[in-house]
Amino acid sequence: MHTRKIVTVIGARPQFIKASAVSAVLAESPHLHEVMIHTGQHFDANMSAVFFDELGMRAPDHCCGIHGGAHGAMTGRMLIEVERILVDEAPDALLVYGDTNSTLAGALAAVKLGIPVAHVEAGLRSFNMAMPEEINRILTDRISNWLFAPTAGAVAHLTGEGVAVARIKEVGDVMFDVARRHGARCAPDEGLLAELARRHGVSPNSYCLATIHRAESTDHPARLRAICDALISFAHELPVIFPVHPRTRQSMHALGLMDRLAGTVLLVDPLGYRDMVQLEKFAALIVTDSGGVQKEAFFHQVPCVTLRDETEWTELVDAGWNRLAPPNNAGAMLSVMRAAVGTRGRSAAPYGDGNAAGHIVACLEQGLA
Ligand code: UDP
Repeated sequence: MHTRKIVTVIGARPQFIKASAVSAVLAESPHLHEVMIHTGQHFDANMSAVFFDELGMRAPDHCCGIHGGAHGAMTGRMLIEVERILVDEAPDALLVYGDTNSTLAGALAAVKLGIPVAHVEAGLRSFNMAMPEEINRILTDRISNWLFAPTAGAVAHLTGEGVAVARIKEVGDVMFDVARRHGARCAPDEGLLAELARRHGVSPNSYCLATIHRAESTDHPARLRAICDALISFAHELPVIFPVHPRTRQSMHALGLMDRLAGTVLLVDPLGYRDMVQLEKFAALIVTDSGGVQKEAFFHQVPCVTLRDETEWTELVDAGWNRLAPPNNAGAMLSVMRAAVGTRGRSAAPYGDGNAAGHIVACLEQGLA
């Protein structure tokens, strides 16, 4: 088999983490050569470069530097730039991850050039078309040739939508691969947790880790206020550590919420992956609206409360590891958080064997042979 070229398009924090698993396996393949495009959607050092460093990824081959602006403008600029690079690189396939504007722009640019598309994390559905992520993932699945589904539920969504079974591969979740590789390494008495213990008296297994970044939380003042009220109340019972995403910081700042939180909640800048995994692993509770963080809570066997109306990762709710708390009522969120501390879900293994990346690369090698 001749060496085939795969162009990967990534641009947002969770995509760097997911791609780190697949890129490591691709680098070992004698048959496939990867060229990486970073759209620039996330660009701060602590939202981008830190993951390349910590997860051992080489620098991207192309950096488009596109971020900010409305969804349409951002996606449109990415489409123009990715198309230009694809014409130049003439790859045999394009690889995209998840559900961001970078995912959709990459897939759309490729399909129009007749380049087959592989979508990692295919088949996830929230059934909420008000979410930009839901639109991106449905459209990307529709135009992909390889649909790499993380779970049996994702496969069922795709077959239910009439996608040909031959295009769907249930490979497991690439984030499980990464968590297995990095999760085992951290101890509670080093790094950031040791520093938080020294400076703020936080002890392992006796704090709550919170992350909020989704537009449905940050762009609705009443919801964001309710979330902050719930976190402030909860912080009187259990220390709350909150790494603040840039978009959330901006919204909270505009609403005067940063100052209100700062007295009781430990606000920190976005964390690198290693610090994040450490804080997840030794948390008593994780409270989040993140897809990735919900799963990582389960990987580290920590109970989770998801501050959303629905979740794509329903198997964790079914198994009792995750509870939904819609972010419209601080008192109700607080009750769910209190009830979740100290609980454990049922034993479950919905995310594959920890070698999703290996299965993805094997499929691509076979498909492009
Ligand atoms: N993450 C991180 N530092 C942080 C917050 C999150 O490294 O301060 C990691 C987290 O461990 C997970 C990923 O980012 O692997 C989740 O990304 P995000 O919440 O931005 O997006 P989502 O998963 O909701 O698409």
